Amino acid sequence: MSNIGIKLRPISCETCYYWEPFSGVCVNADSPMCADFTEEDDLCAGWKGMVNDERAVLEL
Ligand SMILES: [Zn+2]
Repeated sequence: MSNIGIKLRPISCETCYYWEPFSGVCVNADSPMCADFTEEDDLCAGWKGMVNDERAVLEL
């Protein structure tokens, strides 16, 4: 990934807007992994992340 002037966090469920850290479940209704348990370093097709700690800014 190139330097585009924003601080990117690693792309994984841990940094996904739709990952619920308390239970470790993907809650993205658009993802095939929705309602499944995922690991912090997993990644699903519906990843949506945080940039500079602001939520829901970056989509794959
Ligand atoms: Zn997910």
